[in-house]
Order: sequence, then C-alpha cells, then structure tokens
Amino acid sequence: MRKVFTGISLLLFFIIGIQAQNYSDYFTEKACRIDFMFCGNDTITTAFLNKIKQEPYWGGRRQHLSEFLNLGEYRFQVTDSLSEKLIYTDGFSTLYFEWQTSDEAKYLQKGFEQSVQFPYPKKAVKISIEKRLGFDQWEPLLQFGFNPQDKLIRRNSSINVPVKEICKATTPEHAVDIAVIAEGYTAAERIKFYKDAQKLAENLFTHEPFKTYKSRINVYAIAAASQESGISMPQDNVWKNTAVGSHYYTFYEPRYLTSPNVFTIRDYASLVPYDAIYVLANTSTYGGGGIYNFYALASAGSKQAQTEVVVHEFGHSFAGLGDEYFYDKDVLDDMYDIKEEPWEPNLTSLVHFEKKWKNMLDKDTLIPTPVNDETKKLSVGVFEGGGYLSKGMYRPAYDCRMRTNEAPAFCPVCKKAVERMILFLTE
Ligand SMILES: [Zn+2]
Repeated sequence: MRKVFTGISLLLFFIIGIQAQNYSDYFTEKACRIDFMFCGNDTITTAFLNKIKQEPYWGGRRQHLSEFLNLGEYRFQVTDSLSEKLIYTDGFSTLYFEWQTSDEAKYLQKGFEQSVQFPYPKKAVKISIEKRLGFDQWEPLLQFGFNPQDKLIRRNSSINVPVKEICKATTPEHAVDIAVIAEGYTAAERIKFYKDAQKLAENLFTHEPFKTYKSRINVYAIAAASQESGISMPQDNVWKNTAVGSHYYTFYEPRYLTSPNVFTIRDYASLVPYDAIYVLANTSTYGGGGIYNFYALASAGSKQAQTEVVVHEFGHSFAGLGDEYFYDKDVLDDMYDIKEEPWEPNLTSLVHFEKKWKNMLDKDTLIPTPVNDETKKLSVGVFEGGGYLSKGMYRPAYDCRMRTNEAPAFCPVCKKAVERMILFLTE
C-alpha cells in the first residue's frame, strides 16, 4: 500500500514538474501583446500587424497552454519557430465581427483595433491569427514570426495611474485576475470609482459560480482619469473626452455601449496582471456590451437592473456565453447561420448538439422542449429561440441571466461554462 502511494506521489510530482517546466521552457514572467487591425466589409476580413509590445505582467494561465476551448470567432496560435511546436493558443471575438453584420458594412470598408496577449516568449516564435469558418474549421488571416530580442519591440511602461487592489484572493498564477478600468471618472472622482469597482466585484460574487470560486478571483481597480465626467451619448449629441473614449449608440443601438480604442484599454490593463478586462463607465444610463476575450463594458449606476447587466456582460466576455434572448421579428438574423453549430456553449442549432449540453438533459426531456407550465420549471431543456433568432436556434433553459434581467441566476449550462473557464485559468 505504502509502495503504491509513493509511486503515485512520484508520478504526480513528475507530472507537475513537467507542466511547470513547460511554461518556463518557452516563456518569461512578462507578457507579449500583439496589436493589429481587422479591416474589411461585410464579406471580406483582413488583418494587419500594428505593433508588438512587451508588458510587465503575465496574469493568464500557466497550464493547458496549447489547449483550445473552441470559443470565439477568431483564434491565435503561437508556435516555437525551431521545433514548430504549438506553445500557446487562445480564442477571441471582436467588435469588428459584430460591425460586419450591420448595414454600414455593406457599403463601407472599415478598420478596427484588436489586441491579443500571451506570455512573453524566450525564443523566436511564429504567430498565426485565424478566422473561424465553421465549428472546427479555421482560415489563417495573418502569419508572421519575430525574435523576442528584437530591439524594436516596444518595452515602454504604460500610462501611470493609481491602481487599487479591490480583492486579492491569491497569487495571479492561481487566480482569475480582473482589471477594472475607470471610464468617465475625473481625477477628483477617484474614490467614487473605487467604490463602484468594489460594487462590481460584489455584484459578481452574488452569482454562481463566481461566489463558489471567490477565493480564486482577484480584482484590481485602475483609476484612469478622464478629462470630463460621464459617458458620450451620440444620440443626444453629447460627446465627452474620456479615458477610453467609449460611447452609447454603437452601430446606432441606443443601449449598446462600447469603445473602439482597444489599444488604449490594453495600455491601462497592462498595469496589472490580468485574465479579463472590465471597463466601468461612470453613468447610470442603462447599457453595456461584452465580447469574448475582448472586454466587458457596463454602466456603474446603482439601479437594480444594472447589477444584472454587469454580470450578463461578463458572461459574454469571460466565458463566451451567447445571448439567449431573441426577437419575434428577427432583427440580427445575420449573426448566426443555423446550418452550422454555433461555438457559444449555451446555444445550439442542433447540428452538433452532442458537443453541447445533451449529456445534461434528463432522458425524458424532449428535444426540442415544448414550452408549457411544466417545462418552464425544468432546470435544463432545449428551448427554441436564442442568439437573436426565434427559429432554428435553441437555448438551455426557459430563463437565464443571459436571457433576461428578471432571471435570478445563470442557467446550469451557463454556470458550467463559467466554471470550466475559471478552472481552465487557475489549475
Ligand atoms: Zn444560460
């Protein structure tokens, strides 16, 4: 018995040893940021390199480095130039992709800022930025190599603004680190921002699974100072000079609050080690936005509904959850092709339902699940309507944080997807 025990502990030690060695074989303690532009129109997408930066902290994962969760409209891969071995990969989505479904993209070519971050390499690497063509098909858009010793890689420090630890549960390598960036707060409103950031953290911890994993979540407040207080409202002809230049009325949607200035947002975030970015907007006007592995942005106002918005948007940006709501008259019908399985863990077109939550259904649950007083109470089903479409797209529960503000929590499928991400990043 004793001998077996020793054998297992040695084996465990060996496995942990290999994993730890893996990270430091290829990477330093700093981070590498690639800034590029997505350019095109409704049908064409191109990507152009803008710059490479070395940043002081790597807050992301140190294990599963070459594992891919198949989330996001895009992904990037980092390959060791010498051995051609894949050493890091991650998925992400973009504001550009959403713009491509707008009317404007039918007659105009535009460029959007985009950044990705990975641990700073020790040796020469190749980067491939790829666009999703299907559930597991990809097309390279931009490929290049660089030597980490290259003198033209920017190593300057970022804008120096005060940073406060809102909650520090553990070391960055064992934590989900959330960089909360002030937007629309003047220097004189710094204390208000810290309080609002504290409130944001408390809101997250009212929801499972964030509550369960509170001991693995660090939150930093980055007090970027704006020249003017408040947020731009183009629909009312109000433009403000703010830290990251966010505004409502994105793509002419009154409540859609985003910022095109991704490089600036990343500059502020680089003041801390981070896994996720939350831009907190100093306004009580309802609204927000969240894009997977890009950023979440929400108004800090204290009304009840905004608590829900804060968590909903983080569901998008942190775990790649899709919107479970839909319109009877399909208005965003370009977002999904129902002949393909969507990548979002909480939506299915039933093309590859076995890769989604089929194994979480009771064996008596009908696929699709009809809506009636009984099935509305089911914790998991397959309800038609989701991803903005009333037909051909299905969601896991009658109601969920990703569908309405009235829902009390994430549905079990969303909860599981968030938990998977927390575990992926922390162990
Ligand atoms: Zn859900």
